[in-house]
Amino acid sequence: MHYYESIIDTIGNTPLVKLHRVNKGIKGTILVKVEYFNPGNSVKDRMAIRMVEEAEKNGTLKPGGTIIEGTSGNTGMGLALAGIARGYKCVFTMADKQSQEKIDILRAVGAEVVVCPTNVAPEDPRSYYSVARRLNQEIPNSFYANQYDNPANAMAHYETTGPEIWQQTEGKITHFGAGVGTGGTASGTSKYLKEQKAGIVTVGIDTYGSVFKKYKETGEFDEKEVFPYLTEGIGEDILPENVDFSMIDHFVKVTDKDAALMTRRLAREEGLFVGWSCGSAVHGALEYARQHLTDDDVMVIILPDHGTRYLGKIYNDTWMKDHGFLERTFATARDIVHR
Ligand code: PMP
Repeated sequence: MHYYESIIDTIGNTPLVKLHRVNKGIKGTILVKVEYFNPGNSVKDRMAIRMVEEAEKNGTLKPGGTIIEGTSGNTGMGLALAGIARGYKCVFTMADKQSQEKIDILRAVGAEVVVCPTNVAPEDPRSYYSVARRLNQEIPNSFYANQYDNPANAMAHYETTGPEIWQQTEGKITHFGAGVGTGGTASGTSKYLKEQKAGIVTVGIDTYGSVFKKYKETGEFDEKEVFPYLTEGIGEDILPENVDFSMIDHFVKVTDKDAALMTRRLAREEGLFVGWSCGSAVHGALEYARQHLTDDDVMVIILPDHGTRYLGKIYNDTWMKDHGFLERTFATARDIVHR
């Protein structure tokens, strides 16, 4: 019989898929690593189980314990699956800008979710970072995963995402692109790849409203860079320890609108029904590729999650129009006949 002992054993070994249309006119081979094939439908499954295993090993997580985390949703899903497999309760704090689908999904797998205001400073007691810390102090036998600063996050990508990409490309990868939130994916994967071949160039994708690009280029944490934005999962108003700036050679910033439009193109033109930050990653990485790639180059871009979580937002024409991202909404019967 061929079966997995538990759903968490199906994490990883996601496919690489070649892009054909959205990269038209750009040299080189552009491959995407489709992380929605993970059981929690996102790249974050990889680090969630790794953080839990590490906490079990060093004794911070004991039988019957509670896992606490501040999460934009995907880490929570990964932790919830790990919690079910290993017998832990989960309590998550989440910023209220995240899609309702993400909250519902976490509750569906038995987690408790505390929704916190988005537009308060990280050190404000109401922020989802602060509330997670407080719950950790108040709930006995609880473990605060802290994906921002927990080294098991980047380590998971060093141990799995990096080696998979290296083997799948047979060492031919020359460029690597990934969105940067906690920084775990970009930093850990890049470290492994650069150890195999020093010349590999890593492009980190950032959002407008986030501090990373300016910090990389000037070494300055500039609060003026920070303003509310809509893209979920990438960009920060803090500098997480999991962002290793020496592993990310260039940052490209992508607007909410460009990311949303590219995500919709990925679905319609490539059949990749993926999440919003996937559009950011592809738009940003292709902007770099357009200027720098040659015919022999091979770029791999991480697509972190699945499109279902964004049906009420970027895949909804009315929502897109309301945000000024689309000029018109529904096609009429006449449009369809005459297009
Ligand atoms: N995209 C999405 C949808 C995410 O949930 C995350 C995780 N915050 C990222 C991108 C960025 O990954 P990382 O935290 O490893 O930098």
